[in-house]
Amino acid sequence: MLNHTICALATPQGSGAIAVIRLSGALTYPILHEVFKPKNNVVLADAKGYSIVFGTIHKDNELLDEVLISLFKAPYSYTGEDSVEISCHASPYIIQNILALLTQKGARIATPGEYTQRAYFNGKLDLSQAEAVADVIASESKAAHNLAMRQMKGGISDEINNLREQLINFASLVELELDFSEEDVEFADRTQLESLINTTLSTVNRLINSFTLGNAIKKGIPVTIVGAPNAGKSTLLNALLKENRAIVSDIAGTTRDTIEDEIVLNGVSYRFVDTAGIRETDDVIEKLGIDRTFESVKKAAIVLWLVDAQLFPTEEEYKSLELLLKEHLNSEQRLIPIANKTDKAGITMPAYASNFISISAKENIGLDALEKALEQSLEAMGYGNASVAISSTRHLDALTKTKESLDKVLEGMALDISGDLLAMDIRQALHYLGEITGAVSTDDLLGNIFSKFCIGK
Ligand code: GDP
Repeated sequence: MLNHTICALATPQGSGAIAVIRLSGALTYPILHEVFKPKNNVVLADAKGYSIVFGTIHKDNELLDEVLISLFKAPYSYTGEDSVEISCHASPYIIQNILALLTQKGARIATPGEYTQRAYFNGKLDLSQAEAVADVIASESKAAHNLAMRQMKGGISDEINNLREQLINFASLVELELDFSEEDVEFADRTQLESLINTTLSTVNRLINSFTLGNAIKKGIPVTIVGAPNAGKSTLLNALLKENRAIVSDIAGTTRDTIEDEIVLNGVSYRFVDTAGIRETDDVIEKLGIDRTFESVKKAAIVLWLVDAQLFPTEEEYKSLELLLKEHLNSEQRLIPIANKTDKAGITMPAYASNFISISAKENIGLDALEKALEQSLEAMGYGNASVAISSTRHLDALTKTKESLDKVLEGMALDISGDLLAMDIRQALHYLGEITGAVSTDDLLGNIFSKFCIGK
C-alpha cells in the first residue's frame, strides 16, 4: 500500500475559486515532471521543499490550467513522503482531468484518510492524534475545536505515554525476576509497584470520567426541555434557536451527523435532544410517568424544567414533581427550573421558587440569565478543568479495559500471586493503553478509524 503514489482532491467537490489536489509518494516528482511545465524552467526534483512553483498543466496539447504547486520533500511533509499540493481553478472539468492525468502516469486515487494513515505509519502522528485530525475538521464550536486541537497536539498521547513508560519499567523488573526464579529475588519493589498502579489507576479513572463531558463537548451538550403542556417549551426552543442556531455543516466523510436543533453559546454547542416530541405531545408533565420523557431526561446533561408562571404548582406539588424528576437524574446531570410567561400581568413568584430563572420565551425576556445558567451548569460539570478530556468511545473502551487489568494486578498482589501472572496483567494493561496511541494496532482497528475520514485527508 505504501509503495503506491496517491492523489486526491483535498478541497470540497464543486466549482469555486481554488481547488487543491494532493499527490504523495515516491513517484510524486517523476509523475509531476510528465504533466507539469514549470515557468522559468525550474527543475522540480532540485527545487527546495516548502517552495511554490508556478506553471501549466497540459492534457495532450490542450492547456488544462495554470497552477501553483507547493512542494514538500520527504520527510518534511504531512505524510512524511515526497508530496505536492496542486492549487488549480476549482472547475469540476479541470479537477477531473488533472486527476485522470495523474492516475495515467502512475498514481492511484487515495482511499479515505490515506494521507493521515501514511502520516501515522511514518511516525508523524500517533493514532489518537490522527483521530483528532478528523475531530478538528468536524469541530463546529470553540470548545469542540479546543478539545480536538489539544488531542492533535498530543495532550492525551503524552499522558498515556507517561503511564506506559512507568508500567513498562516495572513489567521488565518483574519479568527479570522470572529469570532468577530459583533464587527468590524481588527486583520490583512491591510497595512501589502498588503505589504506581494506584496512581496509574487514578489517572485512568480521571480520563474515563472525562468522557461524558468530552463527548458532550464534541457532539454538543445534550439539553432537554420538560414541562406541562402549554408551559412554553416550543416557544422557548424557538427563541433560543432563532438567535443562536449553530451553523451546522454536513461535511462528507467526517464522523459528525447533521444535527437539527443546536445552538452555540459562548463557544459551546448545546444540542436539544428529543425535542421533536414537545411540539406534538400535549401533556408532558402528566405523562411524566411515561418512559418517553424519562428516556429524554436520561439522555440529557442538562434538563430545563419549564413552569408556566401563571399556574405555579403549590410547594408540595412542586416538591413531589422535583422528586420524581430527580429519581431519573444522576448526580452529573443538572436541573434548571424556569418560570415562563413572566410578561403576564399579576405574576407573583412563590417563595420556594427563588432559584427559578424568570423568563418570557415569547417576549425574549430573561434569556440571558438562562444562557448564564447553562454556562454555570457546564462549569459544575467540570468544564473549566477539562484540560485533557477524552471524547472517543474507542478511547473509553481501551481505558476501561486498562482499568480492569490494573485492578487485576492489585488483586493479584493482595493474593501474593507469582511474578509471571503479575507480569501478564501488567502487559495486558500496557496493551490496552497502547491501543489508544497506536503503539499496539491491528489492520481492523486502523481500517475502522481511517475509513471514516474524508478522501484527500
Ligand atoms: P408547549 O406546549 O410547552 O410547547 O407550549 P408552547 O410553546 O406551544 O406555548 C403554549 C402557548 O403559550 C402558546 O400560545 C404560546 O404563544 C404561549 N407562550 C409561550 N411562552 C410565552 C410567554 O413567555 N409569554 C406569554 N404571554 N405566552 C407564552
